[in-house]
Amino acid sequence: KLEVPDEPIVAVIEGDGIGREVIPVAIRVADRAVELAYGGKRGIIWWELLAGKKALKEKGELLPKETIEGIATVKLALKGPLETPVGSGHRSLNVTLRKVLDLYANVRPVQYYGAPTPFAYADKVDFIIFRENTEDVYAGIEWKAFTEEARKVLEFLEREFGIKVREDSGLSLKPISKFATQRIMRKALQWAVDKGRRVVTIMHKGNIMKFTEGAFREWCYEVAEKEFSEYVSIGEEKPGKILVNDRIADNMFQQIIIKPWAYDVIVTPNLNGDYISDAAAALVGGVGMASGLNLGDYIALAEPVHGTAPDIAGKGIANPSAAILSVALLLEYMGWIEATELIRKALRKTIESGKVTADLAKPGEKALKTEEFAEEVIKAMEGL
Ligand code: ATP
Ligand code: MG
Repeated sequence: KLEVPDEPIVAVIEGDGIGREVIPVAIRVADRAVELAYGGKRGIIWWELLAGKKALKEKGELLPKETIEGIATVKLALKGPLETPVGSGHRSLNVTLRKVLDLYANVRPVQYYGAPTPFAYADKVDFIIFRENTEDVYAGIEWKAFTEEARKVLEFLEREFGIKVREDSGLSLKPISKFATQRIMRKALQWAVDKGRRVVTIMHKGNIMKFTEGAFREWCYEVAEKEFSEYVSIGEEKPGKILVNDRIADNMFQQIIIKPWAYDVIVTPNLNGDYISDAAAALVGGVGMASGLNLGDYIALAEPVHGTAPDIAGKGIANPSAAILSVALLLEYMGWIEATELIRKALRKTIESGKVTADLAKPGEKALKTEEFAEEVIKAMEGL
């Protein structure tokens, strides 16, 4: 009988700056978790692909074709932050990569791991934010004030629609399509069904922007009603059903602070998603703790939310928690729940016992270096 290895392959882009410090450490933690959880019966093949500075040096381009093809082939990836050199023609390498692979859902869990926080309800926080990743004002359709192009758009608006906009205005377009809205809502609902979440909240500013954010709300409800009717209850709580409701964006910011326990899965357009995920992360320890997963129809790319942190890069003091939680999220996506839980529990235990990196240490307190912290997490896993 032919023995075909069935180990999954995960593409790895270490990235620049602290990416080179936190990604290898996160892989070490993941390997140990998998080993402990499955007694050596499962394993992951990590396949390094190049992007960013490292790729420029070795391949002569920032985002080599084989990197994109590699990810598209193995469909699972872990990525560190990439620095985008100015004048490279890319707005951001991170954004370019999401675009070419059509990773339309940016998934950001926000959970408390015992980090110091002034927020009294921190231990009640357990959200997972689904941010639409391809449209909205991020589409980059803009016209600079006083340019010929802007003047043409202004003239068009006045001629065709009788709309007068001040001529010294910059302009921007906010496309929100039914297609992109419904596929992100589908992802959020499917996640809620698969992972047993209780509530899915649509966050929007539909009272002001009726045909973009208001339509987002309508189209999301339509998916819930038409495609998930056996799993959901719209607007009112019912036992055994996922509650689907909506909140106006500004209210949502208060709600996650006043009543964090009432929120669970949050689905929202791109710009709202940007704001709310950083605000939510701040409730539980900030950027050093924030993990993310970019999903397309078939591809999952996990990455910490933070950037390259040039101010601390090379010092070995970065908090690897965001990278460790990102790899845990990838394992959860793969359905390797035992390993996922092991990592999360060990991380919580480590941080709760006061062992933290410099970003989370109180003034005058001892801080662990990146590698030391990871060793503590591994020790904690071994003790569970
Ligand atoms: P980029 O240009 O790549 O986005 P940035 O400096 O604008 O980088 P971040 O890298 O996210 O943005 O850094 C913001 C701040 O948070 C910096 O002071 C950085 O040192 C700190 N920081 C980010 N990630 C971590 C981490 N993992 N551990 C500790 N501090 C971090
Ligand atoms: Mg930045």
